[in-house]
Amino acid sequence: MSEKGIKIASRISRIPSSATVRIADQAAELKRQGKDVIDFSAGRAAEHSPLYINRAAALALLNGDTHQTMAQGTPVFREMVARKLERDNGIKADPEKNIIATLGCKNGLTLAIFSTVDPGDEVIVEDPCFVSYNATIGLCGGIPVAVPLREENEFRWKKEDLEGAVTEKTKAILICSPHNPCGTVHTEEDLDVISDVAIKHDLWVITDEIYERLTLGGRKHICLATRPGMAERTITLMGFTKTFSMGGWRIGFAYVPETVLGSMVILQQHMMTCAGSFTQAGAAAAFQQDYHPEVKEMWEEWEKRVDYVTDEINRIPRISCHKPEGSFYAWINIKKTGESSVVLAERLLNEQYIALVPGSAFGKTGEGYLRMTCVKSRADINEGIIRLSKGIS
Ligand code: GLU
Repeated sequence: MSEKGIKIASRISRIPSSATVRIADQAAELKRQGKDVIDFSAGRAAEHSPLYINRAAALALLNGDTHQTMAQGTPVFREMVARKLERDNGIKADPEKNIIATLGCKNGLTLAIFSTVDPGDEVIVEDPCFVSYNATIGLCGGIPVAVPLREENEFRWKKEDLEGAVTEKTKAILICSPHNPCGTVHTEEDLDVISDVAIKHDLWVITDEIYERLTLGGRKHICLATRPGMAERTITLMGFTKTFSMGGWRIGFAYVPETVLGSMVILQQHMMTCAGSFTQAGAAAAFQQDYHPEVKEMWEEWEKRVDYVTDEINRIPRISCHKPEGSFYAWINIKKTGESSVVLAERLLNEQYIALVPGSAFGKTGEGYLRMTCVKSRADINEGIIRLSKGIS
C-alpha cells in the first residue's frame, strides 16, 4: 500500500518474485559491492553468444534493421525456424501458420497461457517446475494443479498420477523436457503418458523445450508435438537462450497449431509489438547452416561440466545428486542436512558467497533440494565446489 493508501492490484500482490532472477540480481548486487560471489543461481552459461551470430545481428543493426517487425516475426526468421524444426526435430512447420517469434521463452509462455487458459481453469504442472509457470498461470486467473515428480520415480509422472489430477476444470498440461530443474529427458513412453491423457480429456499441452539441444549421454530429445494426435493441441516453446548462450538477447519462438496462432499474435501486438528486429536477424543466422563447430564445442564442454559438477557433489557427505539426463542443472538432494532449502541457500550465500536456488522456489516437492547451474567457468566451478563442501560440513 502506498502512503495515500492506494493499493496495488491483488493480481500481482499474490505472486511471489522469481527466485531465479531475484537471486541472480542479489548476487550481481553483492559483486558490485566488491564481494567475491560466485553465481550458480539462474541458468546462465559463462560463455558469450557465438561470434558468427553476434556478427549477423551487428550487421543487421548497422544496415538499418532497427524498426519494428511483423508481430509474428520477420519472414526470414520464421523461415529459418521452420528449416531448423524440420532438420532437428522432424517437424514440418508452415512459417506463416505455425511459427511466432517471442522475446525469449517466457514471452512465449505468457502468450500460450493467455491464449488457452480462462480464469478458473486448471492447468496441470510438474512439481518441481520452472519458477515462472505457476506465477504466469496465476496472473492469468488460472489455477496450477501440481503433480509431484519424485526422485524414486526418476522425476517422471506415472499415468495414474496424471489421470488423478484431471478434473472437469482442467484445460491444459504444462511440461518441460529436458526438465528444469530435475534434468529428466522425456522418453517416448513418458510422452505417451501425457499424450494419452491430453487426447482423452481434450486438453492443450504447453511444452517448454528450451533445453532441447542439451541432452546428455547421447540421449535424443523428442518433441511432444511429433507424437500421434498431438500437433493440433501442442504449443512448443523453444529459444536461443540456452542452446546458444543468448540469454541477454531475449529471443525465442513458439511452434503452434494454426488454431491458436491468431490469438498469440493479437496478444503480441498488444504486449510487445514484436521481438527485436536485429535480434531476429542474428538468431536467424544461428539456424542458417548446420551447427557451427564453435557451438558444438560449447555443448560438449557443457556436458563435461555437468558430469564433473554432479560427480563432485556426490563426493560431499550428506548431499547427493541424481545424474541429469538433460538441461544443465545439478538438482541437489539436501534432505540429510536437516536444513530447509531457503535457510541453506541463504547460509551458502552469506557465509560462502555462492548463490544457488532453494528447491522450494520450484514447488512444494522441491523442498529438500537446491539447484545449481553447472555451466559456469571451470575456475568458478572448482572454487564453488570447495565452498559448497565447506558450507555443508
Ligand atoms: N530459465 C533460467 C533459470 O531457470 C533463467 C532464469 C529465469 O529467466 O528465470 O534459471
